[in-house]
Amino acid sequence: MFLDQSRASEYAGFSFMEDWYIAAPPEHQKREKEAARLLRKSAWWKSQLGKGLCAHCGKRFSPAELTMDHLLPIARGGKSTKKNCVPSCKTCNTEKGSKTRAELALAKLGAGSDE
Ligand SMILES: [Zn+2]
Repeated sequence: MFLDQSRASEYAGFSFMEDWYIAAPPEHQKREKEAARLLRKSAWWKSQLGKGLCAHCGKRFSPAELTMDHLLPIARGGKSTKKNCVPSCKTCNTEKGSKTRAELALAKLGAGSDE
C-alpha cells in the first residue's frame, strides 16, 4: 500500500533529510545574507564576538576566529536576527553546514549508533 510505503521511508533514517528539504527562495536568501552583512557591522555583533566564545562547543577563541552562524540556516528559511545568529568557531560552523541544531544532534546520535 502506498501509505505504508511512505511511512516506512519516514522511519528509514534521517540521512534522507538533507535530500528532501525545500530550500528557501533565492529572494529570501539574498535578503537575509544582506541583513547578515549589516548585522556583522553592528555594535551588538561586535560585543558578541568580544565575548570570545563559540556558541556550539563553548571553547574560547579570539574574535577574528569566530564566524556568524545562523541557528536556523538562511537556506532553510532562517533570518538574520539577533535571536538566530550566534558566534561560532570555524570548525563548528563547517561541521554544522546547513543543518539545524536538531538535525546536527540527530546526525551525531546516528553516527554513534553505527559504531
Ligand atoms: Zn566551536
